[in-house]
Amino acid sequence: MTTLRDTFAELYRSLRETPDDILLELGADGEVLLARFRLLLSTMLIALPLINFYTGGGSYESMIGFTGVGLAMLLSQVWLTLARRRRRYRWLPYLSASFDVTVVSMVLLLLAFRLPAAGLNSVVVWCFYPLVVLATALRNDVRVTLLAGMLAMLQFGALSAWFIMTATEPLVSVDYGTVHVSSQLQRTFLLFASTLVTTLIVFRMQRLVQISGTDGLTGLPNRTFLNHRVPQIISDARAEGDTLCIALLDLDFFKQINDELGHQAGDRALKHVVETLRLELRRDEPLLRVGGEEFVLVLRQPLGAAWERVDQLRRKVAAASFLPGDGAEPRKLTFSAGMSSCPGDAVDVSGLMRNADLRLRTAKRTGRNRVIARDSD
Ligand code: GH3
Ligand code: MG
Ligand code: MG
Repeated sequence: MTTLRDTFAELYRSLRETPDDILLELGADGEVLLARFRLLLSTMLIALPLINFYTGGGSYESMIGFTGVGLAMLLSQVWLTLARRRRRYRWLPYLSASFDVTVVSMVLLLLAFRLPAAGLNSVVVWCFYPLVVLATALRNDVRVTLLAGMLAMLQFGALSAWFIMTATEPLVSVDYGTVHVSSQLQRTFLLFASTLVTTLIVFRMQRLVQISGTDGLTGLPNRTFLNHRVPQIISDARAEGDTLCIALLDLDFFKQINDELGHQAGDRALKHVVETLRLELRRDEPLLRVGGEEFVLVLRQPLGAAWERVDQLRRKVAAASFLPGDGAEPRKLTFSAGMSSCPGDAVDVSGLMRNADLRLRTAKRTGRNRVIARDSD
């Protein structure tokens, strides 16, 4: 069972880690969804000045209303255009969430200028603060939620403090009641609570995705990464005119290890190979476990250089013998690999995997412990 203290300690630690790639990828979808919703909402708001105008409201007020809604629609369209470029701008979720919070504060401010009690006590408009904070969950990033929550507390607090401190008489309205410092503090506390709950929801979601995307034995990313993240890595590489290669690695004669040393020693042998590789790999060279003793390595390099790299890893693994323990002899573990490149062989994950698999079979057939990158090799 997880205690509150453990959860917060973990949450604090996670704030300093780079957010999970797959989650950010899904968060980019959430950003587009929110941008569409924002545009729909601002388009629907056009009804308000229209109603005002046709029910005999002042034409000056209606004009202000039309201008405000028009501006909101325009800005919503800008956010949608930016969101559609998916993760091109790292600052977008932070800025769009801050924009949403600020719009709520601006509406409260406009109300308060007309009648301070309306701006400070309006329940309907104020409720958009916790809604905006809740909606940040769609972006899957705890930092965005925390920023939106803190900004909402800060802006609302400043607005209340300003009007209360500069008031020369009690702030009272027949429709909105009396403004009390205590009720403003209660509202700020409610904002704090809704930020905390949303943060915990996003954090738990991040953990779930992390668990489901990680292989339990080796701690490597699993197939989920291949299906959700690699397509984006491919399209980024293509956009920048880079070649991207994948290598499909399969350990040689691994059944023998299991048969001769037992399944548990087999597990340790797998971890040993992964550790050897991990020590060599850089951050921009993701290694995934895609099957029992099969791995995929993604390299953003031309095929020749990528082949050199994988062959270097092959030699490292072959040189680092596995010590099974219990007095058993050290075992040499090797892998065979087939490689494919984008755009040379294919431009999608399945095409790249198919080509790499064919070459892996050739590597197995022609003696194992080798890397094959071209059909003529
Ligand atoms: P080859 O050189 O042709 O690849 O021979 P191989 O024996 O490695 O054959 P293959 O790749 O078909 O078999 C892989 C074996 O790896 C089958 C399975 O018993 C073992 N294996 C797969 N996953 C695990 C695991 O998580 N733990 C252990 N201990 N063994 C595993
Ligand atoms: Mg295999
Ligand atoms: Mg094998």
